[in-house]
Amino acid sequence: MSEQKPIEDASAEASATRTPIAATVAGLRAAFDAGRTKPLAWRRTQLARLDALLAENGPALEAALWADLRKSGAEAQYSEIGFTRAELGSVAAHLRGWLRPMRVPVPAALLPASAKVVLEPLGVVAIIAPWNYPVQLTLAPAIGALAAGNAVVIKPSELAPATARLLGELVPRYLDPEAVAVVEGGVPETTELLAQRFDHIFYTGNGTVGRIVLEAAAKHLTPVTLELGGKSPTYIDDTVDLDAAAARIAWGRFVNAGQTCIAPDYVLATAEVQAKLGPALARQVERYFGADPAASPDYGRVVDDRHFARLSGLLGAGEVVTGGQTDAAERYLAPTVLADVPRDAPVMQQEIFGPILPMVTVTGLDDAIRYINAHDKPLALYVFTEDARTKKRFTTETSSGALGFGIPLGHIGVHALPFGGVGASGMGAYHGRRSVELFSHAKAVLSKPLSPDTIQLIAPPYTPARENLIRKVLGRIS
Ligand code: NAD
Repeated sequence: MSEQKPIEDASAEASATRTPIAATVAGLRAAFDAGRTKPLAWRRTQLARLDALLAENGPALEAALWADLRKSGAEAQYSEIGFTRAELGSVAAHLRGWLRPMRVPVPAALLPASAKVVLEPLGVVAIIAPWNYPVQLTLAPAIGALAAGNAVVIKPSELAPATARLLGELVPRYLDPEAVAVVEGGVPETTELLAQRFDHIFYTGNGTVGRIVLEAAAKHLTPVTLELGGKSPTYIDDTVDLDAAAARIAWGRFVNAGQTCIAPDYVLATAEVQAKLGPALARQVERYFGADPAASPDYGRVVDDRHFARLSGLLGAGEVVTGGQTDAAERYLAPTVLADVPRDAPVMQQEIFGPILPMVTVTGLDDAIRYINAHDKPLALYVFTEDARTKKRFTTETSSGALGFGIPLGHIGVHALPFGGVGASGMGAYHGRRSVELFSHAKAVLSKPLSPDTIQLIAPPYTPARENLIRKVLGRIS
């Protein structure tokens, strides 16, 4: 007879051999299984504590963002700290209503009965974040996951080490350490994290790692949200005020030194429009960052040497309208605008993710739409035109995560709009109510009294009369 070990011994042995990451995830699962994260009160407390973390540590967060990306305090506030607090405020204000079970109509054939959709937490959620907006993109998904009542493990990016370290210190101090954890580290740690079983993985970053995440998730049948990137085009025609448009495009491209997933990656315009837009963009760059952007406290730096070398290698195509200067020691790359860039130039073969804006010549609207549709579906597409028919054609003839008329980046600040990609730019979307739904299971709940026993109308034996009733009446009632 084989000897069976008592359960406690077996689990003690298992925990003795667990790695710290596996033990962390096991701890989160135990907290979730015990029901710790489900009460609305717990969720609201976590949101309030997260808000306090952001409100009370502004200077430390700004300092970390400066150290990692030389991000200015103002930029840190509106695109990271303030942004995340605004998202948090909107979720906290509406959470009770969003979680209320939603009654839905019942088809006549099933009456009497009542039906509702109940949102329930998924379990343990992993959030894997990138470096470019290391506060926002780490904590904004966590807002939805916590509001939906999940235990959460957060993996900040190792490429923004000061912010990762700070979040690693602050999160356990402010949030419930039994149900929220931070795992710091790079590829080995993320690989180990991905080997664990989760109930949802939310990944933001590049598509190559996105595929690795999907593969790891498949082993456990874990649902995944992928917030990826790609080349987001900007089309501009001669119906708009080119100076006003240039002010928006230059801001959207050069904020955070161009390291923004939804930044305008390139411009599609006719040669005539480029001839005027180029100088207008150069004027706006000088307005924002002065004659020497290297000396501007408001202009960021490239995140690391690898990206600096990659970006420097993308220069040299087309005609330099402004910029082009580099300083490897500082990882400084001037805000650069290039005109009439060939379609086969290296800068047009990959997401730029840096302060370079190539303009590619098109013959007009048809050519621009054809070009966009011949490439991966972008995360965002921006159009500058006053022509209603042109707007309509972009709306109906192209596909992208988001479509912005007259404004790049702005859609990310509208919490009621879904934020996410399509095709190669990602799958799934979040922000506001969608975040809460994303990290919940929408459970179908049907209640039917045992009497009257209407199910007998469709139960065997199928006498001719009953079959007649099913064929003629019941099959058609909805
Ligand atoms: P990154 O290098 O910080 O990687 C993202 C995360 O993946 C990190 O936490 C990292 O540790 C992890 N990772 C890296 N390599 C891994 C591997 N081999 N196995 C497992 N995990 C690994 O960030 P990134 O990918 O350079 O970010 C830039 C990209 O992200 C761009 O393409 C950009 O467009 C995209 N992005 C998208 C959004 C969005 O919301 N859709 C936002 C920001 C950035």
